[in-house]
Amino acid sequence: MTRALVGVDLGGTLIRAAVATGPGTHDEPVRRPTPAAEGPIAVLHAVAAAVLEATGGRAPAGLAMGVPGPLDPGAGVVYAAPNLPGWEGLQAAGLLGAMLGCPVVLQNDANLAGFAEWTLGAGRGTRDFVFVTVSTGVGGGMVLDGELYTGAAGTAGELGHMPVDPAGPPCHQGHPGCLEGVASGTAIALRARAALAAGETSRLAAAGDSLDARDVQAAAEAGDALARRLFEDAGRALGRALGGLVNVLSPEVVAIGGGLSLAGELLLAPLRAALPEIAFAVPLARCRVVVAALGTDSGLVGATAWAARRFGSAPG
Ligand SMILES: [Zn+2]
Repeated sequence: MTRALVGVDLGGTLIRAAVATGPGTHDEPVRRPTPAAEGPIAVLHAVAAAVLEATGGRAPAGLAMGVPGPLDPGAGVVYAAPNLPGWEGLQAAGLLGAMLGCPVVLQNDANLAGFAEWTLGAGRGTRDFVFVTVSTGVGGGMVLDGELYTGAAGTAGELGHMPVDPAGPPCHQGHPGCLEGVASGTAIALRARAALAAGETSRLAAAGDSLDARDVQAAAEAGDALARRLFEDAGRALGRALGGLVNVLSPEVVAIGGGLSLAGELLLAPLRAALPEIAFAVPLARCRVVVAALGTDSGLVGATAWAARRFGSAPG
């Protein structure tokens, strides 16, 4: 019996581990809460336990883990993970590999989601592909000339922090006027609260202290002027940033994923309208802008597909 290839999607609140069953497919995942507050060793022990439950107690042949933060995939070192205290500079691949007795590779979670979309989702069959995920933050991943592109430091694909407006609000990293400061779910909710505080009339006033981007989406769908404007601003900022990226990379497909992509045309119509503000006509004509295909499973699909890519084909 061949030993399993395993993918792990490590989140700030949930660990998911699954055995690869084919190119881009996996068994039912094992789910465990992430003991983030107990520190990195406790989290890695929880990951190892989930992996062994998924494999029936056998050490995997190889394991790929998606981590929610920038990292060096060659060295297996996490630079930082905002939702995982104590992970700064952590040699996570080496530590987890020693616990499990198998080779471990790390990759940024959004890069793996992009790799999954390229392998069997919206980017299937392309050589040059850009994935953008728009949820509480804005992230992404790129496949260039048929390879996941991570750059010299391993951190490439941070599409959320491209500049869009020097007068724009800062993102949570403090960049003035980056994409995430306008187009993330967090930014949309913050801007809605600021407009209400400034006295603007909107049905969002009824949402109270729990107001989030889903409330803004619902209000926009009901025709609320403030909510529609916030989605138009977010879509336009995304379109301008992606228009610039079309000029730089000339991808065949740009796929928009993450929770805010569920808003559909509320976000996509202003996004598409803004692309030609920046993008040249020829590369834009050769680029399709679509909604991502794999939904919330893309991080785990990407991890299992990356395990197969790095350690040989999965059985099945
Ligand atoms: Zn930023």
